[in-house]
Amino acid sequence: MTQSFSELSLAPTLARAVADMGYEHMTPIQAQAIPVVLEGRDVMGAAQTGTGKTAAFSLPLLQRLLKHENASTSPARHPVRALVLLPTRELADQVAEQIKLYAKHTQMRSTVVFGGMDMKPQTLELKKGVEILVATPGRLLDHIEAKNCVLNQVEYVVLDEADRMLDIGFLPDLQRILSYLPKQRTTLLFSATFSPEIKRLASSYLQDPVTIEVARSNATASTVEQCFYRVDDEDKRRVMQQILRERGVKQAFVFVNSKLGCARLARSLERDGLNTTALHGDKSQDERLKALDAFKTGAVDLLVCTDVAARGLDIKDVPAVFNFDIPFNAEDYVHRIGRTGRAGASGLAVSFVTGRDTRLLGDIEKLIGKKAEFVPVEPEPERRPGGRYNDGQRVWQQPAPRDEAAPRPAARAPRAPRPSADPFFDQPYEASAAPEAKPAWESADKPAARSLSPNIKPKKKVAALFKATERTPETES
Ligand code: AMP
Repeated sequence: MTQSFSELSLAPTLARAVADMGYEHMTPIQAQAIPVVLEGRDVMGAAQTGTGKTAAFSLPLLQRLLKHENASTSPARHPVRALVLLPTRELADQVAEQIKLYAKHTQMRSTVVFGGMDMKPQTLELKKGVEILVATPGRLLDHIEAKNCVLNQVEYVVLDEADRMLDIGFLPDLQRILSYLPKQRTTLLFSATFSPEIKRLASSYLQDPVTIEVARSNATASTVEQCFYRVDDEDKRRVMQQILRERGVKQAFVFVNSKLGCARLARSLERDGLNTTALHGDKSQDERLKALDAFKTGAVDLLVCTDVAARGLDIKDVPAVFNFDIPFNAEDYVHRIGRTGRAGASGLAVSFVTGRDTRLLGDIEKLIGKKAEFVPVEPEPERRPGGRYNDGQRVWQQPAPRDEAAPRPAARAPRAPRPSADPFFDQPYEASAAPEAKPAWESADKPAARSLSPNIKPKKKVAALFKATERTPETES
């Protein structure tokens, strides 16, 4: 049952921030977790990003820390009291931004540190003193070793996206970090699933936790229409364009299983005239952030990605997700299609199943607890007309009648065949067409797409963090 925020006795400064955000009712994870965290209990929460879990832990945590609020300029008066650990730079940045918003009417200070960035500005922030520190594990250890931060006054630690942190291999780093923290503390662990490894982590570091599960951990949203198509590999691209056209879909995530496949498919779709960008682990941080931002602002229509993009990123209202390849891991299916149908919006999840995918499909059916329903499809013949098909139109849409007197937008020349080295993907993403007017489902009364925060300086090109985090060789050849 949803409850109103006014039913919580939040401090006026926090209540005001919640009102500024336009929230009225708590999401299920908030309704369950906030009272428990306010009591100071440990929490083991099964919730994914997109459920409102950041506010679920930050609001009560801020409320409990308000007793330390002070306006002193002395760093000693602002020791780290809460530590929030996340697996990736994008997630850390996203969560830190939200915490700043919730704390904006208080005097609590917060900052974020993650790899792939110069340590100096982060060090300066840390040395000024912050009560809430959001971090990725590796970079936090760097700062601890450099004695830039002291964690002996930490009262709260949040292990967010804990399953992802373990997948990436952060367990030793987490263990080291937790060993620096006072034993007397509150620990909150959030994970999309409660795997045996997560349960082991919880039993080692949580004390008598309250388990909160907002939805079955492997449940798929009822707002997502799941369609399966039996297709051969060589027909997938054409069938995808058919579906985009027939269903009038304007933007989609397209998931593939390998980095090489990702780059190739993005290039082929670009050649087909679709505004496409690729997101995978071989791209630099800078390119990846640009690709995401281009998708968020609507400058590109298709984001072809590996599972690196499947979790956590809060991109509102992606109307469709394509499993161009069936994921090797059934749980990734749930995460992938969780990119659409968010916050009650309706979404479409299309999966292409080849003859090789029978076992993988069986795993998915078992996990989601239902049989795949196949939609019959007859692949249309190849449509690759030369020249004018991409003159500002999305290719799968019928061209609008043109006023011949009006100047034509520049048509993109068909690309010459490229050498196999694929130089296209060695270059930073550049939007190739002016963004179209926002699609109807991104109407003006919705919040604008998030642009990069000032924490991320796009000019700096460092691939290190994501190179290190991409430890899933079976999914990224
Ligand atoms: P999170 O799962 O914390 O990343 O939150 C996902 C999105 O939901 C964010 O854009 C939040 O601003 C938004 N959100 C969080 N709580 C609420 C709420 N109670 N009502 C409306 N939106 C919310």
